[in-house]
Amino acid sequence: MENISNWVHKRAMITPERVAIISKKNTYTYNQLSGKVNEMATFLQHHFALQKGDRVAILSHNREEYMIAYFAIAQLGFVAVPLNIRLTALELIFQVKDSGCKTILFEKETSHLVRELTTEVNFENAYSFDEEIPTCTKSLETTAIDATCDPFIICYTSGTTGRPKGAVLTQENMFWNAINNQYAIDITSKDRAIVLLPLFHIGGIGLFAFPILLAGGTVVIPGKFIPEDTIQMIEAHEVTIVMGVPSIHDAIRKHPLFETASFNSVRWFYSGGAPCPNELIQRFLKRGLPFGQGMGMTETSPTIFMLSREDYQRKAGSIGKPVMFCDIALVDDKGNCVRNGEVGELLIKGPNVMKEYWGLPDKTAEAIRDGWFYSGDLMRQDEEGFIYVAGRKKDMIISGGENVYPLEVEQVINELPQISEVAVIGRTDEKWGEVPVAFVILKDGCAIKEEAIYAHCLSKIAKYKVPNEIIFLDELPKNATGKIQKQQLNHILQSR
Ligand code: ATP
Repeated sequence: MENISNWVHKRAMITPERVAIISKKNTYTYNQLSGKVNEMATFLQHHFALQKGDRVAILSHNREEYMIAYFAIAQLGFVAVPLNIRLTALELIFQVKDSGCKTILFEKETSHLVRELTTEVNFENAYSFDEEIPTCTKSLETTAIDATCDPFIICYTSGTTGRPKGAVLTQENMFWNAINNQYAIDITSKDRAIVLLPLFHIGGIGLFAFPILLAGGTVVIPGKFIPEDTIQMIEAHEVTIVMGVPSIHDAIRKHPLFETASFNSVRWFYSGGAPCPNELIQRFLKRGLPFGQGMGMTETSPTIFMLSREDYQRKAGSIGKPVMFCDIALVDDKGNCVRNGEVGELLIKGPNVMKEYWGLPDKTAEAIRDGWFYSGDLMRQDEEGFIYVAGRKKDMIISGGENVYPLEVEQVINELPQISEVAVIGRTDEKWGEVPVAFVILKDGCAIKEEAIYAHCLSKIAKYKVPNEIIFLDELPKNATGKIQKQQLNHILQSR
């Protein structure tokens, strides 16, 4: 398999004047992008004297240099370690040490974090994206890489269910993810995708920056997510694909411009990364906008499921069907496939599944068995093969021997018009083993009594699923992609 940096360099030969990247400050054609990638690759190879396999940390907001760095790193067989700018220095130090990065690429805005890191980490090389790349007289030497085996990105999982693990993704993984997405939503050179997810998460890279560049389309990078700027850039640059996590789409629909913008160019609003409330989906559909869900995870580069354009209205709420080059199975605790309608754990097999967890052979062996990746996600399939998320295995509550899926309870509470957000977790209970507890955020200016929430739940779900307690909070703890941190809710419960 070819080095993926060739996606850019070959495009520069085939369609040099086509626009590859639009940011707030620059527009690059494929020809210019190819030149920038070569410039950065030359700098990393000669100025920093990096060798194949060396890990390179990146600590930055979304910007065009981030994309350039990914392709330069790919070109030379280095390994990118994208760091989450929202983490504390302590958390970052763990990831930098765990992956063994001696080089860091950053920006002025994150330099305070880099200073904190250097109290614990001895970086041999550091370069700020805000500086000019020094001119280098030496020419770029090519490096042979094995795209199937050599690590390309070590992407730390969100840590929603514990200590972050470095998922090792190869260039081949990224290639197949790009192909899977192209087949799933017919990405072509005419498409313009806006990057709203952080480029330090696999969602930012794989949905859809990389697939778009392979297809010869245009990637719009607005930088920090500001709803007003986003809507304006969608309109100004005639964006065709808008990918976001539910909290991003929620912020877009709450902005006054949402009602007046035409969104004429957009052919697909796509949500993934976390369960999408039905009310949010319906809001887009009622506005006449095509809105569908998909599902993926860091370890699968990321896309596993995508709802097709044919079915997004009829099957709203489903994450769709598996993408072309990715097999799935839903199994019970004994490893047997469950029947339609029953909940099972999602297993995934395909060329998009990561190589391993960095430095964690036991965790890798636990996660990948007989070629199947055990996701820990629980799902059910309807009679037509459409998949619905039921929750996560680790979140499942067993109350009096009955399974309670927090997502089901959350969806019921979310139906109440006063509720802005809700998260359900389990609490140990002497009598039942565990009982569900709901954390609730009210919409501004709204009020509702606990009794009304209990009564609504009782009218919709079995008694053992109804929360034993309702706790009102001002906000829910979330990570950079807006995913609720249930571990932190557990700490809140325990500290009461
Ligand atoms: P960790 O593995 O460290 O616990 P994480 O699983 O949150 O972190 P990510 O790879 O960022 O790490 O997230 C993938 C998870 O997000 C999936 O396993 C799934 O639980 C959830 N997810 C993704 N898309 C959807 C969706 N459309 N609906 C519901 N859940 C989703």
